[in-house]
Amino acid sequence: MALIVQKYGGTSVADIEKIRNVAKRVLDYYKKGHKVVVVLSAMAGQTDNLIRLAQEMTPQPDPRELDVLLATGEQVSVALFALAVKSMGYNACSLLGFQVAIHTDHLYGKAHIHEVDTERILKELEKNKIVAIAGFQGMDEKGNITTLGRGGSDTTAVALAAALNAEVCEIFTDVNGVYTTDPNVCPKARKLEVISYDEMLEMASMGAKVLQIRAVEFAKKFGVPIQVRSTFTSERGTMVVAETKDMEKVVVSGVAYNKNEARITIKKVPDKPGIAAKLLEPMFKAEIVVDMIVQNTSEDGITDLTFTVPKADFYESMKRVSDVAKEIGAEKVLGDENIAKVSIIGVGMRNHAGIAQKMFQALANENINIMMISTSEIKISCVIEEKYTELAVRVLHDAFGLENDPQEDR
Ligand code: ADP
Ligand code: ASP
Ligand code: MG
Repeated sequence: MALIVQKYGGTSVADIEKIRNVAKRVLDYYKKGHKVVVVLSAMAGQTDNLIRLAQEMTPQPDPRELDVLLATGEQVSVALFALAVKSMGYNACSLLGFQVAIHTDHLYGKAHIHEVDTERILKELEKNKIVAIAGFQGMDEKGNITTLGRGGSDTTAVALAAALNAEVCEIFTDVNGVYTTDPNVCPKARKLEVISYDEMLEMASMGAKVLQIRAVEFAKKFGVPIQVRSTFTSERGTMVVAETKDMEKVVVSGVAYNKNEARITIKKVPDKPGIAAKLLEPMFKAEIVVDMIVQNTSEDGITDLTFTVPKADFYESMKRVSDVAKEIGAEKVLGDENIAKVSIIGVGMRNHAGIAQKMFQALANENINIMMISTSEIKISCVIEEKYTELAVRVLHDAFGLENDPQEDR
């Protein structure tokens, strides 16, 4: 019989009735003789509520104490789940991150998992218990509680699946798989049967929150097969697996959007060696992820430098950049939070020309101005005004004919 890891997201455990349903689902597997490790998120909206509480107390909460607070959301879910299983006459045991233990670095709010101990989990499974583990949390080398970043329960699940050598990691959520784009934004979005780790990685990095980026990185590194599926139906979901030759036949397989970035422009920067490094160094020091970086061609030894950062780091970034800008004699620093990034993704793009042109034309047809562009081997991203995000997603989905299954055309 197999060992499986199942993760249930916030909407799947939103109230007592839903937690009972999750317990019933898990017991269906257990009764077939499988060993089940269950990872749970906080009940829907709880993490946001806790952040709000902290901010009511102080506008910039201390990161260590914020993680202590945020980790309580998942503690509630695992305890209620274990109680549900027990009330149905079976045995379960809830474990928090530090009890497992899930070892992380010390980066509060965005910690990385370094190692997962399996001894305690295996011991509980041996006793025929269902083991429920709080997602999104771990412990640093000094025993402090850390959290893994929004959506981090996905990463907990995949890391556990890797450490336990589980047959599969099932991610149960409120949609029945990974779609060509967010089905809540584009009604024509089509569910994918399979997607490669690399495509899923780009989709997640470009904003598709159905899986956290680090979860996909982990899965790829350790070859953990993931199935994304619905908590509310028994339909087969989407398999996230290693790339096959067949996948290259599809040029564009998905569209993603991200409204969580802001743009910073430094005007009239002296164009000489070391300036970009100097301007960006304070961001790297603060572990702020700088994404798209564009430098204009210089005129009379003066240039403009633009880049994007997560919205959550916008004010900190503006402060840090403004300090250096003054130091190097740049004219001014401009910030814009009303931007969004739309991206098209596909491994087949590697072998096709003209994809970028088609993307730009589709946006132009709707009079959507492109502010920044970045490309990789398997994706093209454009920064646009935030208010056009949904429209852009729909026109790109149409332009690349994503509602039609390419398998059916053959
Ligand atoms: P959970 O709480 O279960 O972790 P999330 O809200 O984090 O769920 O992720 C699921 C959501 O991801 C969906 O409701 C959907 O709106 C969004 N999403 C964005 N892009 C996609 C995509 N390409 N396929 C499926 N869902 C997507
Ligand atoms: N509860 C956390 C969040 O809302 C982690 C998760 O749901 O995966 O981001
Ligand atoms: Mg999630």
